[in-house]
Amino acid sequence: MTIKLDALINSLEGIETITDSAQVAKLSQDYHTFSPVLVPKLEGKVGDIVVRPANEAEVLKVAAACAKHRVPVTVRGAGTGNYGQCVPLHGGVILDMTRMQEIPWVKPGVARVEVGVKLATLDKKTREIGWEIRMAPSTYRTATIGGFIAGGSGGIGSIQYGLLGDRGNILALRVITVEDEPRAIELRGDDVQKVNHAWGINGIITEVEIPLAPAYPWAEVIVTFDEFMTAAKFGQALGNADGMIKKLISVFASQIPQYFHALQQYIPEGTHPVFLIISEPSLEFLPGLVQQYGGKITYKKPAEEAGKGINLAEFTWNHTTLHARSVDTAITYLQSMFPSDASGGLRLRSLKLVEHMYHHFGDEVMMHLEFFRVNGAVVPGALQLVRYTTEERLNEIIHYHEEQGVSIANPHTCIIEEGGRKVIAPEQLKFKEIVDPYGLMNPGKSKVLQFKVQN
Ligand code: FAD
Repeated sequence: MTIKLDALINSLEGIETITDSAQVAKLSQDYHTFSPVLVPKLEGKVGDIVVRPANEAEVLKVAAACAKHRVPVTVRGAGTGNYGQCVPLHGGVILDMTRMQEIPWVKPGVARVEVGVKLATLDKKTREIGWEIRMAPSTYRTATIGGFIAGGSGGIGSIQYGLLGDRGNILALRVITVEDEPRAIELRGDDVQKVNHAWGINGIITEVEIPLAPAYPWAEVIVTFDEFMTAAKFGQALGNADGMIKKLISVFASQIPQYFHALQQYIPEGTHPVFLIISEPSLEFLPGLVQQYGGKITYKKPAEEAGKGINLAEFTWNHTTLHARSVDTAITYLQSMFPSDASGGLRLRSLKLVEHMYHHFGDEVMMHLEFFRVNGAVVPGALQLVRYTTEERLNEIIHYHEEQGVSIANPHTCIIEEGGRKVIAPEQLKFKEIVDPYGLMNPGKSKVLQFKVQN
C-alpha cells in the first residue's frame, strides 16, 4: 500500500490530509464498541490516511486519485454509527466529510445542505424560518446529515414521520462516483433509495435535499407508572392520538432508570417511566390521558426552556445504551421492530409480544420501547438492553425474537445484509456497478460484493 499511497498523496496537493497514525486510528473508529461481538472482529482495522475535502471539487479529485491508484475509500461523517460502518476493513483512505458545512438554501418545507452539517445546526437554521428537520437520531448534536442518511434509520420525530427510508423523507441526493473520471449524479424521488442506508458503498454523497416539518414549541415530560405494560399501553394510546402532535414516546422498564443519574429525582424507584416530547398546544390533553392509565407526571420542561438543562432526547433511542454502558460495560443491546398492521389487529399482537418478551427474559433483556410510525400505524420498536454473557446466548435471544415474529436489525454485525436491511436491492447493486466499478468503496461490508482491488 505504501507505494500506492505515496502516489495518491502526490495527487492530493492542496487538500487537507492527516497522516499522524494516532489520529488516523482515532478517525478509523465508530461506536461499534457497544457490541462485544464486533469489538474483537474490528480490532486493529485502520485506514492509512485521512483526507478532509472542503468542497465537491476536492471530493472529485480524491475520488479520481483513489480510482487511479486502486485505493479503498471509507467515507465518514461524525463516526457515531454503531455497526462499524466507518471502520475500514482494507485500509486506504478515510474520507472525512465534516468540513463540507454549507447550507445552500432553506425554503418553507425543504432544505438543501452539504453532508457535513450537523443535524442540530441544520435544525437551528431551519427554525429561523419556522421549520424544523423531521427526525434526528439522539446523536443530533454531533451526527452529520450525510452520515444519518448513509448509516442511520430514524429517531426523534419518527413517531410523526416514520423512518428516514420511508418514501418522501429524502428528496434528493448528489453523489460522486469513484471511477477514472468521477462524475456527480443527482438522484431524486425514489432513486434516492439506491444510496439511502448504503453505508458508503454506493458513491460519496456531497449534498442532500430534505423535506422539513412545521416547527413546534416542544415540551418535555416524564410520566411514571407502577406496571410496565400500563406504561406501554399508555405509550401506544398517545401514539394513536393523531390530534396530539409529538416527537418522542420512549418507555423504559423499571431497571433502566438506575442508569439515568441526572433524572433519578423524577423517577421513583420501581416505577416504569415514559419520556415524551410533545407540542405545547397538545400538552393540555396530556393529564386526561395520563389519568386514564393511572400514571403520574413527575417532570415537565416547557418549550421556552428548550436547549437548557436536561435534554430528555439524550436519554432515548441508543443514548439509553450509552448511559447504561457508562455504568456497566457488560451491557449491550438489540434493535427490534414488533409486527405492524394498520388494521389495529396486529397492533394488539405487538403489545402482547412486548409483554411476552418482557416476562420471558426478565432482567436479562431490559425492555426499552421507542414508538414510531410504520405504514401509517404507530408501532413499538425496541432497543432492549441485554446483559451480555456469550455470543451464543446473544444469538439465542435474537433467534427467539425472530421465531416469535419480532424483526431484529442486528447491531452485532458489520455486514449490511445481516443488519436491518437484510438484502441489498438489485437497483442498489446495479447502481454500485456504475458508481464504484473497482469495488473500492467501504469494501468488505457486503456479503455479495467481494473486495477486488487490482494493482
Ligand atoms: P458516520 O457514523 O460517520 O457514518 C455512518 C455511515 O454512513 C458509514 O457507513 C459511512 O461510511 C457512511 N457515510 C457517512 N457520510 C457519508 C457520505 N457523505 N457519503 C456516503 N456515505 C457516507 N442512529 C439512528 O438512526 N437513530 C438514533 O436515534 C441513533 N442513536 C444513537 C445514539 C448513540 C449514543 C450512538 C452512538 C449512535 C446512535 N445512532 C442512531 C447511530 C448514529 O449516531 C446515527 O445513525 C448518525 O446519524 C450517524 O451519523 P454520523 O455522521 O456519525 O455518520
